[in-house]
Amino acid sequence: GRDSVADLARLVQDIAAEMAEAGERGEVASYIPPLSRIDPRQFGLCVAAADGSLHAAGASEEPFSIQSISKVFALTQALGKVGDTLWRRVGREPSGTPFNSIVQLEREQGIPRNPFINAGALVVCDINLAGHEPRVAIGELLRFMRYLADDDGIIIDEAVARAEQATGFRNIALANYMKAFGNIRHAPELTLGVYFHQCAIAMSCRQLARAGRYLMHGGLYEPGGPRVIPAQRARRINALMLTCGHYDASGDFAFRVGLPGKSGVGGGILAIAPGQAAIAVWSPGLDANGNSLLGTLALERLAEATGWSVFSPD
Ligand code: GLU
Repeated sequence: GRDSVADLARLVQDIAAEMAEAGERGEVASYIPPLSRIDPRQFGLCVAAADGSLHAAGASEEPFSIQSISKVFALTQALGKVGDTLWRRVGREPSGTPFNSIVQLEREQGIPRNPFINAGALVVCDINLAGHEPRVAIGELLRFMRYLADDDGIIIDEAVARAEQATGFRNIALANYMKAFGNIRHAPELTLGVYFHQCAIAMSCRQLARAGRYLMHGGLYEPGGPRVIPAQRARRINALMLTCGHYDASGDFAFRVGLPGKSGVGGGILAIAPGQAAIAVWSPGLDANGNSLLGTLALERLAEATGWSVFSPD
């Protein structure tokens, strides 16, 4: 295993150099103008290692739209509010369908398969909205993420939020459909407002890797630090990321990388090597399933070289 700090720093540089040379980069998301304008040649990587060291390469300080990666933090927030009663309203099974699919909701009485498809994330937003104005609920999430990353520079990209709202007809349909089953409690437009704004959070790889540390440290902020969530909850969120974090490509991501991970259509991926590292990678070109093409490749290289796969014997 390649686990000394010097080796890790070198490895991160080597991976970024390889990705800079890559021919095939995928297609940037085109459903909203602020994302379609992003330069697909960018690549950033940051590894927050268990010893507290950070190893970054490429455009690791460049903020990007975290999109569905926000679902991990929103779920953490919702579990903090309602605990395991959340699972009466959201399932825990991989969907095998695209992120915005509506098909399973009819058969399953408005209960989404998992919290990381859009329907499940909308229910999570509905939980986070309880007792709040939408702007307070989203402010609470933003504060939580700033605390985790120890960085007050994390903001919402209002242009992205507006574009999500203006084009989010499938999400609007999902929220209304679940409202018909009673699984959205607020006026759908309020719940959707929270969802569109959390998708529009902008973060750099550095900020995102730091924000993910609690999931490598069994729920602690850092070793010896304050507890963010119970250890069992951190294990369970990691399990959901492994099984559901890449939509209908979750199996392939587990096969290639072997780490809990959550992707976003902005080209970011947060991956967790429990006890070892929190890793953020960003490259806006997507593969056919809507996951970062080079981001996935970079994580495959990193997991291979470090032996960090959760399926490795060491
Ligand atoms: N804002 C996107 C949507 O809800 C997020 C999708 C994603 O990141 O996968 O359509």
